[in-house]
Amino acid sequence: MDFFEKPYAIQQDNHDKLKHFRKQFIIDNPNLVYLDGNSLGLLPAATPERIQKVIRDEWGRKLIRSWNDGWYERSQKIAAKLAPLIGAKPHEVIMADSTSINLFKLAYAAIVFQKGKTAIVSDELNFPSDIYLLQGLAKHFGEKYKLRLARSYDGIRVETDEIKRILKNDTALLSLSHVAFKSSFMYDTKEITHVAHEKGAMVLWDLSHSVGAVPVKLNDCNVDLAIGCTYKYLNGGPGSIAFLYVREDLQDRLVSPIWGWFGQKDPFNFRLDYEPADGIQRFLAGTPPVLSLSTIEPALDLMNEAGIENLRDKSLEQSRYLINLFRHFLEPRGFSMGSPENEQERGSHVSLCHPEAYRICKALIDPTVGEKTVIPDFREPDNIRLGITPLYTSFMDIYEAVMQMKMIAEQKLYNHFSLQKEKVT
Ligand SMILES: *Cc1c(COP(=O)(O)O)cnc(C)c1O
Repeated sequence: MDFFEKPYAIQQDNHDKLKHFRKQFIIDNPNLVYLDGNSLGLLPAATPERIQKVIRDEWGRKLIRSWNDGWYERSQKIAAKLAPLIGAKPHEVIMADSTSINLFKLAYAAIVFQKGKTAIVSDELNFPSDIYLLQGLAKHFGEKYKLRLARSYDGIRVETDEIKRILKNDTALLSLSHVAFKSSFMYDTKEITHVAHEKGAMVLWDLSHSVGAVPVKLNDCNVDLAIGCTYKYLNGGPGSIAFLYVREDLQDRLVSPIWGWFGQKDPFNFRLDYEPADGIQRFLAGTPPVLSLSTIEPALDLMNEAGIENLRDKSLEQSRYLINLFRHFLEPRGFSMGSPENEQERGSHVSLCHPEAYRICKALIDPTVGEKTVIPDFREPDNIRLGITPLYTSFMDIYEAVMQMKMIAEQKLYNHFSLQKEKVT
């Protein structure tokens, strides 16, 4: 059977051990190829019913009594289901706020804890929002504080030697994305954490682009702090609540900068002096969004059932397939690799670059171009990100996406589209 023909993709889907999970998601348009689950995961079939139940029974009927009947502990209960995906103990993780706010809280706490050290280190491939937050913190702590960014020489990877070079004894915190949002470059968490600890720096990993797609072993790597979001590979829905991790032995030594009542020792005492709660609870601020918390559970259950190691195996198999198709069909038509070649250094999306990337994305998404509607996303200046979400991505999805890209490039169909950028790309 020819590797580059459609029957091969069909055969691979038939042999896929995880294929039954696709049916657990709402995919009601047979012509839609969704490769953007790394930005917003699909809707799990069980979620609408779960939400209905929370709204009708817990809110509608039980009303405020629900706080004592599950709501108060829900952040912790969901976190305990997420913990195995990131190699943490259940009481080291909690669902809270948004990723950006969690980054602020944990980075702030680390900088205060590392009194006397005045540098924050990140890299230039990091998600801009993370960089803005770190810039803001450096400014907030005063003139002596500086943010230093490790350089990437090819825009795709950051060398470990560059991290070693930029970390100095003045470094309070090293804050990096485990998987880079654009190129998909993935750090060796163990090695980098070790390098930072040798310099006396604490380490904070942003797991937004790895959780649910790549096994993460926070305890095994002795990681201090981590954060991440739940609406990408975890399929929690738009703006769903984020999570944070603080290693067990650090929990009672760090203090959140946001002193809210949900982080208070005994919030219903209504005392007037703040005393942080014991353990991970102290990193909460205010009332959790109960509806958003409830959307995360169905997908987490599916993910734990599938097993994160199996998900990674499938993601790697599909990435290899995609890259082979790219070499055959797309590289000769002006596309180039925007992701690391070495799969040990790559997360679960593959970025392909093309000078016309923006308009190619528009043509892919337009339902009147070709037979399939393909949804990837575009990242400045020339990246088309193809997200592989092993719970539901099929080999046929990948085949169809590559065929559409080939056709659009070959026939220059992107010329029919405007260069005008939309608000969200
Ligand atoms: C998606 C993402 C975020 C999102 O942060 P929000 O607070 O949810 O907007 C943060 N960091 C990284 C690395 C991301 O990929």
